[in-house]
Amino acid sequence: MPLAPAGLLGDLWRVHPVTSQSSRPSSTRPARGGFSVDFEQAPLLVIWEVTRACALACQHCRADAIDRRDPRELTLEEGCRLLDRIQAMGTPIVVLTGGDPIQRDDLEELIAYGKKIGLRMGTIPAGTPRLTRERLASLKAAGIDQVAFSIDAPTAERHDAFRNVPGSFDLTLRGARWARELDIPLQINTVLSRYNFHEFDELAALVESLDIVFWEVFFLVPTGRGTVLEGCTPQEYEALFEKLHRLSKRAPFMIKVTEGQHYRRYVAQQQGAAAEGEHGGRAVERRPSGDARVIGTSSKVVNAGKGFCFVDHTGSICPSGFLPIVAGNVRTDDIVQVYRGHPLFRELRDSSRLKGVCGRCEYVEVCGGSRSRAYAVTGDYLASEPDCVLALTSSA
Ligand code: SF4
Ligand code: SF4
Repeated sequence: MPLAPAGLLGDLWRVHPVTSQSSRPSSTRPARGGFSVDFEQAPLLVIWEVTRACALACQHCRADAIDRRDPRELTLEEGCRLLDRIQAMGTPIVVLTGGDPIQRDDLEELIAYGKKIGLRMGTIPAGTPRLTRERLASLKAAGIDQVAFSIDAPTAERHDAFRNVPGSFDLTLRGARWARELDIPLQINTVLSRYNFHEFDELAALVESLDIVFWEVFFLVPTGRGTVLEGCTPQEYEALFEKLHRLSKRAPFMIKVTEGQHYRRYVAQQQGAAAEGEHGGRAVERRPSGDARVIGTSSKVVNAGKGFCFVDHTGSICPSGFLPIVAGNVRTDDIVQVYRGHPLFRELRDSSRLKGVCGRCEYVEVCGGSRSRAYAVTGDYLASEPDCVLALTSSA
């Protein structure tokens, strides 16, 4: 998949205890079933784009993926070194994304290595003929903790039109069924935009039928090929937030919203947390029932460079795949130092630097707006979230 940046695991990961064979910063030791990661020291998760090659040609692809491997990709050895540094930093979760990660034959070795050093590992294969039951079984044997597939429309016709390859819908559903048969915890990723806004109810019904542990809903960030697509209006966001919130109260799986940080404001408003002055941890959606199969959650808001870090296929270190400003490269720089000390990352973690409506907003610590969308739309990653309804009632 691919879209994953704020990805597979996003900002609701409560990480279940894992056994680490090496020492980790005390800030990341599991406490009461979850990790408490200090986002100044480490991201909750790192998304590593192991390849940019992909046989699909999705309309929204931030990676501009093409079906050809890049000889400059990080090697297996370089990848293992990167995993070592991520583990040493105190990050508990790594998602191997793409492109289509199963285009790499050494994906299993990377997963197995990550597991050996105590990381929780997820991946996001694309729905193509490369996705076989045998390959999924091989990922499971390597130790994969969770696998995610992307579904963006409730019918084959609409999904395939979005992904630009006939048959990808059926291949994705087949992969999802195999994952369940193999007892691999299953996540579905969906990108919401004007393209599928009106199909939400049918989409949700389909997703609900798939026996998943996690539904990650992305709101379009107009970057890469996605620059030509239309995102939702602020009012449409609110309508979708309402539906997502309602679904979250009854669904037997966790719902996570990515690049729609203002969903947390919506939930806080519903819970009355703002009126009580309760910001931060409580103002998020709660999972209706604890499911030990879920790879992890966090109660704190995760944003580009704040609890989240992205490494592209050639090793470039960015705050997010949707915020592709390069702050270093793992071939020449230590990801630990870049995440903790690079001015870009430090600025992104400092909510007092935010401008416009976000900068004055009482929900800034709960939400903070999508830094990636602010950058994609305005060129300024500290600008106000462009698609928040609060911006309509307040002058910038
Ligand atoms: S083309 Fe589609 S499946 Fe492939 S990397 Fe891009 S978004 Fe992911
Ligand atoms: S104005 Fe900004 S910080 Fe406030 S709720 Fe909207 S997006 Fe979030």
